[in-house]
Amino acid sequence: MNYSIIEAAKAIIPHLPALLGKQAEPMSQRLRTVFDKQVDEAQIEIEIIDLLSEHEATRAWMNAQLQGEKETTKGGTLVFNELGGNSDNVQGATYYKCPECDYRWTKTLDWQTPTRCPTHDCDLIEDN
Ligand SMILES: [Zn+2]
Repeated sequence: MNYSIIEAAKAIIPHLPALLGKQAEPMSQRLRTVFDKQVDEAQIEIEIIDLLSEHEATRAWMNAQLQGEKETTKGGTLVFNELGGNSDNVQGATYYKCPECDYRWTKTLDWQTPTRCPTHDCDLIEDN
């Protein structure tokens, strides 16, 4: 899902009471004021980030919604990062064992070649 900051900020409004308690109402008013401003989207985004960064609860909520694509920080600076992670590069581990004893070896990287049993000097077999 590719949320824009503005969409995420609109989506947060119903959650404000749970996140901020008594401060929800003023926050929601201020957000609506920002949405109604006749300025360009980038300016609105900066003001939204400033507002929602005032509280850890709303800042964290926004970060979760934006899935780490756009980290909101205090001061209105947009920091792009890759919290999503590069799971493509991480293969599941493959387990090997010696057929003769209980020597085990784990292959964690794709390019690794299975080692040999140090005791029997034989090829290890896959053990899943
Ligand atoms: Zn062995």
